[in-house]
Amino acid sequence: MSIIIRSLQLEQITADIVWDVLVIGGGATGLGVALDAVTRGYKTLLVEQSDFAKGTSSRSTKLVHGGVRYLAQGDVKLVREASVERGLLTRNAPHLVKNQTFIIPVYSYWDMLKYTAGLKLYDWISGKLTLGSSVFISRKKTLQNIPGIKKEGLLGGVLYHDGQFDDSRLAVNLAQTIIQHGGNCLNYMKVINLLKAPDKKINGAVVEDAETGKQYTIKAKAVVNATGVFVDAIMQMDNATGKKTICVSQGVHLVLDKKFYPSNHALMIPETSDGRVLFAVPWHNKVVIGTTDTLVKEASLEPQALENEITFILETAAAYFTEKPRRCDVLSVFAGLRPLAAPKEREQKTKEISRSHKIIVSASKLTTILGGKWTTYRKMGEDVMNTIEKELGWKHTKTATASMHIYGYEQGVNWYDPLYFYGSDTLKIRAQMNGTANQWISDTLKIHEMQVQWAVQHEMARTVEDVLSRRTRALLLNAKESIRIAPQVAQIMAKELNKDMVWVDEQIKAYTQLANNYILN
Ligand SMILES: Cc1cc2nc3c(=O)[nH]c(=O)nc-3n(C[C@H](O)[C@H](O)[C@H](O)COP(=O)(O)OP(=O)(O)OC[C@H]3O[C@@H](n4cnc5c(N)ncnc54)[C@H](O)[C@@H]3O)c2cc1C
Repeated sequence: MSIIIRSLQLEQITADIVWDVLVIGGGATGLGVALDAVTRGYKTLLVEQSDFAKGTSSRSTKLVHGGVRYLAQGDVKLVREASVERGLLTRNAPHLVKNQTFIIPVYSYWDMLKYTAGLKLYDWISGKLTLGSSVFISRKKTLQNIPGIKKEGLLGGVLYHDGQFDDSRLAVNLAQTIIQHGGNCLNYMKVINLLKAPDKKINGAVVEDAETGKQYTIKAKAVVNATGVFVDAIMQMDNATGKKTICVSQGVHLVLDKKFYPSNHALMIPETSDGRVLFAVPWHNKVVIGTTDTLVKEASLEPQALENEITFILETAAAYFTEKPRRCDVLSVFAGLRPLAAPKEREQKTKEISRSHKIIVSASKLTTILGGKWTTYRKMGEDVMNTIEKELGWKHTKTATASMHIYGYEQGVNWYDPLYFYGSDTLKIRAQMNGTANQWISDTLKIHEMQVQWAVQHEMARTVEDVLSRRTRALLLNAKESIRIAPQVAQIMAKELNKDMVWVDEQIKAYTQLANNYILN
């Protein structure tokens, strides 16, 4: 059992070290790069301005998928790459990635033909790493499998397989894996400037500790900009006259009680009223429905769902579900921002921009990675490190991540166990519960005092939000219930972190303010 605390990570950066690789950004992309770098033997430091996965990486649809939609767009290369990565991730983190069946209900003979054939092609592209074959199922079987679905005109369904996961838990486990392999990961550490050598090449960064305001100078041979929707801000530090490289597209999800969609199969609606794809995915005993694709002007760490996005999801769900959800039924609403490579043509719609990733190396050798998907985070890390070795004239080394177990690796987890997502740590946490096993802080969400302690002692949680949003998923599963338990979480954390009542009050206030934005009034 490893104690991973921030102060130990912090001690390491005060020493006068030259890092091989400094990664900016602690989302899926940055963590993928840092893991690839450290396991190739490079001295690696990752810094994240807020918490790991605070940005887009905790706000996904929770799918590890090849991308049926990208197949429809003809992007076979991306689907093949993502299908391979889906297979690898299912093997490397079996405690977090589940083989999930999806059903597309069909209401016309043309759709029956189109989706049956299309998904056979999807299976074929995955090759040996397929998670299972797709099959057409009768109307009767479709209704047995997804009882809450619209019956009128239903001809049957196409059942296929993809992966389903817990995004922020994977991010935390990746940080733990990096540390296990000798790397350093620091949350609440923001890059505020880049450093350049006399030859104008980047050779480090100035970072600021968000907790103390203290600044540190980090020396590094290679610097990677993996800051998602914030990449342009870092690129501006390198070249103030540089062009904008990304556009930002928002996606919203609503979380509902399972009674609205009482099935263990996920639902895929391939063509909604405005030509998008909508998923209803069972997750931690609730159902997540989304998403949208709305161009937004500003990148923010706390994006807000727009009224028309909420209405669109509720109306689409109401068109397919027999039990129609209303605003007051929404347990949580969350929005995430896609960092998409800026469109080539002005008229190009965001949903048409490729989700494949792109690497840019500037004249001063700042390596920036744009776009991509959670599913392909490992391949993105590998591609970045290959690029750095080539650009900086380093000896080529091989990636080691394709078959590397991720922290918490455990086969055969019981998905109905409320602590399943801790994988190999589950038994240790349960052992610490001792005689208090039934004392849940939240009985409905199954959150226990020990999980709060564990998050601080082993998972670098620093705030109530870290615990309720990303170490557990309370904020996304039931925002009101998460506000109710926030005071208790703050008290437990204060004891662990040696904080006073002022800290406790500030934490409760800040958390309540934030969580209120996840509730629909
Ligand atoms: C609505 C939606 C649904 C999605 N669903 C799926 C899905 O189901 N499956 C899938 O595979 N993909 C999905 N994706 C895509 C996937 O979530 C993203 O590609 C991925 O999370 C992006 O990760 P990232 O690390 O690039 O960005 P982020 O997660 O945003 O991480 C960037 C990090 O950089 C940090 N940062 C910024 N500036 C600084 C600085 N100056 N110093 C230090 N740190 C800094 C930020 O705080 C942030 O944490 C979805 C995306 C969206 C928006």
